[in-house]
Amino acid sequence: MCDRPSMGAIVGLTGGIGSGKSTVARMFEALGATVIDADAIVHELQAPGAPMLEEIAEAFGAHLIDANGALDRAALGAIVFGDDEARKRLNGIVHPQVGAEFARRVRAAQEAGTALLVLDIPLLFEGRRAGTGTSAVMRFDATVLVAAREETQIARVIARDGATREEALDRIRAQMTLDEKRGLADYVIENDGSLDETRRQVEATFEAISAAQP
Ligand code: ADP
Repeated sequence: MCDRPSMGAIVGLTGGIGSGKSTVARMFEALGATVIDADAIVHELQAPGAPMLEEIAEAFGAHLIDANGALDRAALGAIVFGDDEARKRLNGIVHPQVGAEFARRVRAAQEAGTALLVLDIPLLFEGRRAGTGTSAVMRFDATVLVAAREETQIARVIARDGATREEALDRIRAQMTLDEKRGLADYVIENDGSLDETRRQVEATFEAISAAQP
């Protein structure tokens, strides 16, 4: 006899910037899913005083930590942008710790017995392709893509982040194209319409994934 709690499917949730991925993650949560947010883990592990900051400062310079002990993300981004060696070094510091924390939270959620575990990973398909990060080693029962037209993404990023149109476009075009992602996803949630239309798709996807579980 097996007395372990039911595992629940592991879902990889992804979507380009401004597509509405965080909004969809909250809708999954409202249906009873447990959501683990990759960006939130990175931010926690890089909070002022966190050991990872010392490693980053040792590798790339103490000037990356400001007077309040916070990481200067823009300066770090400028160092690794277009420098493969530097990016690899940074990934070597960040990815193992993020991966370990991810694994710890997945285990905790499974032990608590969750119906559906949603891993919110912005660069899921990019990471898989590059063979780096959590998405490269994690096995998902299903992947869900949140899709929105580029004009929708631009408008949302401008409204949410106060970005210019050019900045929004740069950030969108630095990611894999939507068409490529569509070809890789098991489920696609179209998020150009109203929040109600999106919620209905999230409910249908939640049910389809749950029904597909053995
Ligand atoms: P992402 O996590 O993909 O970057 P968010 O979920 O933060 O995107 O959504 C970006 C912005 O667009 C947010 O301000 C959010 O409230 C808004 N938004 C998302 N989906 C919709 C929708 N269907 N209708 C209206 N606004 C939306």
